[in-house]
Amino acid sequence: MSRQHRAGPAIPHRVLILGAGYAGMAAAIQLAARVNGRKDVRVTLVNAQERFTERLRLHMTATGQQLAELSIPELLEDAGAGFVPGWVTAVDADARTVRIDDGRVLTYDTLVYALGSVADTVAVPGVEEHAYTLSSVQDAELLADRLARLHSGTVVVGGSGLTGIESAAEIAERHPELNVVLLGRSEPGATMNPGARAYLRSALGRLGVRVRSEVEVVKVLPDAVELAGGESIAADVVLWTSGTRVSPLAAAAGLTVDERGRIVTDAALRSVSHPEVYAVGDAAAIRQGYGVMHGTCQGGMPTGVHAAVSIVRVLAGKRPGRFRFGYYHTPVSLGRHDAVVQFTRPDDSPRRMYLTGRMAARYKEMVTASPWSTYRRMKKMPASGAFWPRGGRFTRVGGVG
Ligand SMILES: Cc1cc2nc3c(=O)[nH]c(=O)nc-3n(C[C@H](O)[C@H](O)[C@H](O)COP(=O)(O)OP(=O)(O)OC[C@H]3O[C@@H](n4cnc5c(N)ncnc54)[C@H](O)[C@@H]3O)c2cc1C
Repeated sequence: MSRQHRAGPAIPHRVLILGAGYAGMAAAIQLAARVNGRKDVRVTLVNAQERFTERLRLHMTATGQQLAELSIPELLEDAGAGFVPGWVTAVDADARTVRIDDGRVLTYDTLVYALGSVADTVAVPGVEEHAYTLSSVQDAELLADRLARLHSGTVVVGGSGLTGIESAAEIAERHPELNVVLLGRSEPGATMNPGARAYLRSALGRLGVRVRSEVEVVKVLPDAVELAGGESIAADVVLWTSGTRVSPLAAAAGLTVDERGRIVTDAALRSVSHPEVYAVGDAAAIRQGYGVMHGTCQGGMPTGVHAAVSIVRVLAGKRPGRFRFGYYHTPVSLGRHDAVVQFTRPDDSPRRMYLTGRMAARYKEMVTASPWSTYRRMKKMPASGAFWPRGGRFTRVGGVG
């Protein structure tokens, strides 16, 4: 029941959104646009930084490229949502409070939890101490600084997933003086169709990236990485991109989480243990017909929009709708002028169609640039943010799965 119902219409219903990444921003803007001007709802967004982190471009930051200054408070200014800069240190899901690192305690009636994820630096010994990551702008800038001072030597990229591929390619293109080695359990682009995978492999070769697949990194040392089997590869710099982990705050708050610490949601994206908490983006374990969604921007933004629309429905005494999402592409940049875009079925399996080369690079850039312009558009036309593929039979109840 909303606080409005308990205490009368004079007291606004307080919606607190934690995290202004791709999903949290989508939730904040969508909700603010839908309740702007209403006195009975107050929307507040909390985030560690005032500047929006374009996580999709952190491999560019890591190679010294300047990104646009995207100010969260500026975007929210006329949107009807408040902004609190600060680091969330605790959530009390029973008392409905959130503690910020400056000592402030914020209260809520509805919470949207969107704290995202970071690189997994704990699964492999030595990563935390000796490897760089792309978890934040600061991390990426540290790497950029190191690479700029390294005039020769070897950069090992651990993890051959999409972030590892994009990073290895970007570093090789920007720093041709360095040897770049990409290590992973599977072949780069393993989930793509054979043509796209072959293109990706030859593009990495053209950039001078040495690929070692089917290897397991078991330890990161100050000047090398150690593989299962005992081989070690000398490394002046190690960038770790393998796996992600989420903040322990949700589990500590007593919210039901999965084995990776992500908040388990019902079909409407509410916490199964605390329905006044919505979980979105990488921090949520959201089940669809094809399985639990994996962290992406393409799926994260729709979760934020859906949570906002659901909150408005619940405030109006209606039931929130079921969230449905189907993947449609896997775009991978290969430096600034090349890319592969694998089109996918809703369950993320590859279709036959893919793009390569400059056209793919332009497509990828369009995708990467689109969130901020989407937020701007949503401020005026919230409904414009509600278009995404619902996944058809792949996400229909009783469908394929
Ligand atoms: C280099 C790179 C390239 C990628 N490329 C793609 C791609 O091409 N396509 C794609 O779909 N996905 C891509 N991803 C994945 C994508 O970035 C994530 O899935 C997406 O960012 C998740 O969005 P989110 O809103 O859940 O979390 P995030 O974007 O991580 O946002 C979380 C926000 O919460 C803040 N925060 C976290 N903890 C706290 C705290 N305790 N207190 C206050 N604030 C906090 C963070 O500072 C951040 O602003 C890429 C990731 C990387 C690293």
